[in-house]
Amino acid sequence: MEKSPGEFTPKKQTEGSKSLLQSEDLFKYILETSVYPREPEPLKELREATANHPMKMMCTTPDEGQLMALLLNLANAKKTIEIGVFTGYSLLWTALSIPDDGKIIAIDTNRESYEIGLPSIRKAGVEHKIDFIESPALEVLDKLLEDANNEGAFDFAFVDADKVNYWNYHERLMKLIRVGGLLCYDNTLWGGSVAVSDESLVPVSMRPSRRATMELNKSLATDQRVQLSQVAVGDGLTICRRLY
Ligand code: SAM
Ligand code: CA
Repeated sequence: MEKSPGEFTPKKQTEGSKSLLQSEDLFKYILETSVYPREPEPLKELREATANHPMKMMCTTPDEGQLMALLLNLANAKKTIEIGVFTGYSLLWTALSIPDDGKIIAIDTNRESYEIGLPSIRKAGVEHKIDFIESPALEVLDKLLEDANNEGAFDFAFVDADKVNYWNYHERLMKLIRVGGLLCYDNTLWGGSVAVSDESLVPVSMRPSRRATMELNKSLATDQRVQLSQVAVGDGLTICRRLY
């Protein structure tokens, strides 16, 4: 399809992954210097198993996975929630970063893609830490909140699913994650489209999530209950720490 003059182009994909970096060479440099040499073998295998998937661009970038692992360890995370699993790349980083008796509630509406990554998860010896639930995530969070014991019972959440529901997830996760725990929201720069002032220049398919993401970013910035950092890794990651 022909583009109209000035139409916004979402940032390119590199090595099957999204990156907002302006230089493809710089992204490659980061991966080859700091990430790939330290990426555990089962993660490499899972990434490669995802490489031929038609939706491979949904996979978390390896440098972001490495950052998540660092955050999980800094937060001493043991119990986590993941919304949006796909083939399990971010899930496996999480499973490898929490202790052997740690637990992840991993939610996705599609079990089929999770099964692509499952052999690598099994090989890594961490399947016992994962409770995969095939369901829309809101239902699962509401169910968890029916039990008062779950309030403040989790240390970390990674949200990487339907952008239009992020604020609904935030309201629920703020009850489930303990004070001092982390809530991480992915794709908060939405291919760079959040900074385009004229929406008519943005592809129609990107608009609903762009609007939701812009609203989310504004709401998080004024949410006094969290400390926050918007990081330009992958497609944008907003890291929040619950203050009270
Ligand atoms: N974190 C994953 C990774 O590292 O590969 C990528 C997740 S992918 C971007 C988004 C996922 O969210 C898809 O697998 C999709 O099935 C799932 N999803 C979409 N809407 C959902 C919902 N309402 N509840 C739970 N999962 C949902
Ligand atoms: Ca993502």
